[in-house]
Amino acid sequence: MNLLRLSSSNFDRRLPGSLLVAAGTQYETQVRDARGLVEWSPLASRRHIKEDRLILYHHTAGEVPPHRSTRAELDALIVEARGGKWGLPYNFVVMPGGHHRIWYLNDIDANWPHTYGHNGATAIAAMGNYSHMIPRATMVERMLRLADALATMWGLQVPEWQHRDVYPTECPGHLLSPLLPQKDRQRSADWQNDPAAIGGGSNTWQ
Ligand SMILES: [Zn+2]
Repeated sequence: MNLLRLSSSNFDRRLPGSLLVAAGTQYETQVRDARGLVEWSPLASRRHIKEDRLILYHHTAGEVPPHRSTRAELDALIVEARGGKWGLPYNFVVMPGGHHRIWYLNDIDANWPHTYGHNGATAIAAMGNYSHMIPRATMVERMLRLADALATMWGLQVPEWQHRDVYPTECPGHLLSPLLPQKDRQRSADWQNDPAAIGGGSNTWQ
């Protein structure tokens, strides 16, 4: 695959701005919107409007950024995208540290080649290799909070699977897997008890 737009000569060095998912709700989550900044991954297909929402957890299995600056994180993502056969096909990549960022790379209303047979799912990936690294609690919390925010924004109960649930892979890593929802747990059960949250998230997606 030729990710031409990843060459530094034509890479726009401006830093991406932020978006809020489920703004104004208890699950409000800020992400850095880097969609289109580079070609993170080839588009698999447009998404069927009636396709059910599904959240799928992954890890990138790559290096974590050496610094916690926005620039260092972005540079680490670009290195990761250059190294992978499919670039970085996840919709979101969550950085490991509590002060790190969540990156929105590929639009949730299109299909990207992250999960064989399930490319229409929304893929949330932990940055790093959690077959070897011990995941930080803050990273796991932010992955789950992002899932809560997405479910709130959609106004849906959304099934959550891990990559290993649908494909013979260690992903998202045997150290992270036990900390994430097991197959077919519904997110977010707690807003059944909080009707105000249902549909309460203003959709701030561009
Ligand atoms: Zn995976």
